[in-house]
Amino acid sequence: MNDELIAILNSWFVLNQRDLPWRKTTDPYAIWISEVILQQTRVDQGIAYYQRFLEQWPDIASLAAAREQEVLKMWQGLGYYSRARNLLTAAKQIMSLHKGVFPEDPGKLRQLKGIGPYTAAAIASIAFGHHVAVVDGNVKRFLSRFYGLDLALDRGEGKRQLEKYAQSIVENGHPGLLNQVMMEFGALQCVPRNPLCNKCPLAEQCVALRQNLVQQLPVSIRKKASRNRYFNYLVMAQPHDDGLVFVVRKRIGNDIWKGMFEFPLIETANETDFGQLSQTVEFDKITAGQHFLLSGQPFRIRHILTHQNIFACFYLLIFDHLGFVEEKNNVFLMNQNRPDDYPLPRLIMKYLLSLENQN
Ligand code: SF4
Repeated sequence: MNDELIAILNSWFVLNQRDLPWRKTTDPYAIWISEVILQQTRVDQGIAYYQRFLEQWPDIASLAAAREQEVLKMWQGLGYYSRARNLLTAAKQIMSLHKGVFPEDPGKLRQLKGIGPYTAAAIASIAFGHHVAVVDGNVKRFLSRFYGLDLALDRGEGKRQLEKYAQSIVENGHPGLLNQVMMEFGALQCVPRNPLCNKCPLAEQCVALRQNLVQQLPVSIRKKASRNRYFNYLVMAQPHDDGLVFVVRKRIGNDIWKGMFEFPLIETANETDFGQLSQTVEFDKITAGQHFLLSGQPFRIRHILTHQNIFACFYLLIFDHLGFVEEKNNVFLMNQNRPDDYPLPRLIMKYLLSLENQN
């Protein structure tokens, strides 16, 4: 069964695979970067990030020497900024623990910061030819349908079965190639909604198709509930030349966007308004009792992250002079025309864009 399956998949791949830059290399560094980027974004958008990243840091040594702020800036727009920080930490670990040489063994790869079973398997199989299966979302969907596996796939028996199926396939050929073939098949042919069963070369053998289970598989796993958060930004600004200068602060602590920059923030338990906000101790602390003008209407926007809904509200406060703000302890002044000086979450970029559109 496997020989026939592999032969069909390989022929399909030759005819249908996309021309992707990371398919042309076996450099573990490049494969690692591509895998982490692809965990964050679609392939078409990921290509540009991948190329920019490798242009700036072509190897482990150059990445290990980068500043965190530069890496976050490069990552801007991809989200999950801990992944970018982990890339930097892992590059440093490879320099110090492995003399700058990527470890081959999946177990050793998994000891590096941010490299989990999936990424370790991708690097070990594609760069070093280790016979380990990469079980990503595409592979899960394809194999669960092909074998008619109607169990939850993230734990217990379903997970074990699925890994067994994937492993038995990569044992029988070039593991790096077969992993990519299965991922590509799931991404292009056996897609989540409306898979292309009527032109599928595996239609005859596919259990889900024979048993009319395609729409039910893979068994959906209940998603973690999203949490609502209320972010009130005090956009403290001072007119300057042809624009504004803003106060920005670096986010610290173990939360979203660590190391990125944003405007002074007051987080509240519920939605609030300016009247209530301006009565708080935090508000007084941030504005230092200085005179300001509240400009225009607040800008409200809902920003959705994987497990969080951010209800953000931006209040533009115009000060005559921001001289009372000390540029220290992660507080800086950012010119409106130079947002590229700092890594900014997408939410902050959305606000800056709305401000630009108003003018
Ligand atoms: S027949 Fe349909 S469900 Fe089965 S592997 Fe092909 S595309 Fe996927």
